Amino acid sequence: MFQNILFDLDGTLADPRDGITRSIQFSLGRMEREIPSIDRSIYCVHGRRASDTDSVEAGRSALPGPDKRRKYMKIIDLTHLIEPGMPVYPGTESPVFSYPFNLDKDGFVETGISMMSHTGTHMDAPGHILAGGITLDRMPVSTFHGQGICIDAASGQKEITAGDLAPYEAMMPAVDFVLFRTGWSHLWGSPGYFEGYPVLSREAAHRLNDFKLKGIGFDTISADAAGEMDLAIHQILLGTDRVILENLTRLEELPRTGFSIACFPLHFSGADGSPVRAVAFVD
Ligand SMILES: [Zn+2]
Repeated sequence: MFQNILFDLDGTLADPRDGITRSIQFSLGRMEREIPSIDRSIYCVHGRRASDTDSVEAGRSALPGPDKRRKYMKIIDLTHLIEPGMPVYPGTESPVFSYPFNLDKDGFVETGISMMSHTGTHMDAPGHILAGGITLDRMPVSTFHGQGICIDAASGQKEITAGDLAPYEAMMPAVDFVLFRTGWSHLWGSPGYFEGYPVLSREAAHRLNDFKLKGIGFDTISADAAGEMDLAIHQILLGTDRVILENLTRLEELPRTGFSIACFPLHFSGADGSPVRAVAFVD
C-alpha cells in the first residue's frame, strides 16, 4: 500500500502532513503505526518530492549529511561454486541439476537441485555427528556472523598444534570465528584435494574450546583427516555447540585479523549441515 516509502534509510524525513522533520531510523512496520494517515503517493525528503520512479538510492542522495552506509575496504567471497560434477566428500553424491522448466516451453526457467546437506562450502552443526546435538535451524541467526581471524597453516605441516595457536591466542577473546588457511583450496578439483591436508591436533582443538567462539573454518574438505572414522576433531569442536565451516576458499586474500565473516545456512528443518555463502568483510 505504501508505494513510495524510502525504507532502510538512516536520516530524517519531512512528514507531508505538517512539514515536521522526523527520524526515519525505523522499520516500515513502525512507520505504518506512527504515520497511519500519511498519503501513500507523496513523500518529501527534505523538501524534495519522492515520485513513483525514485529509487532508494535517489532517496539516499537527497539526504543531507555524511553517507552513513558502512564502507568496507573489500568483500571477499569465500565460497566454491555449486555445480554438477563438483568435488564432494568421497562416498557422497555430487549435486544433480534438472531443468524442468525453460523459457521456450514455459516462459520461465527454474532449476531443480538435489544435493547433500554438506555440499561445497558448507557448515556442520553439532547434530551432524552428536546424538541430540543442535541443528542449524535451531541456532540463533547471530551464530552465523561475527569477527574473524585467519591463522596461517600453509607451511606444509600435517598437523596444526596448540603451539601454532599460541601467537593468535591474545586475539581470540575478541573474535567469533577462527579460520585456518592451509592453502588446500588450490587443489579443489584435483584428486589431491581429498588427502594429506593439515588437521588440528586434538590438543589444539581442545585449546580452541577455551575461547567463546561461534565457529571454526577450514579450506579443506574436513576438520578430520581423510578416512578418520572416529571424527575426533569434529567431536571436540561440535561438542560445545559451535559450528564448523569446511571447503572455504580464497582465505589467502584475508588479513590475519580485521574482518568479519557472514556464512548463513539454508533454513531447513533438521539441518545437520548446509551449504553457505561465506563472505568476509574486510575493514
Ligand atoms: Zn560437513
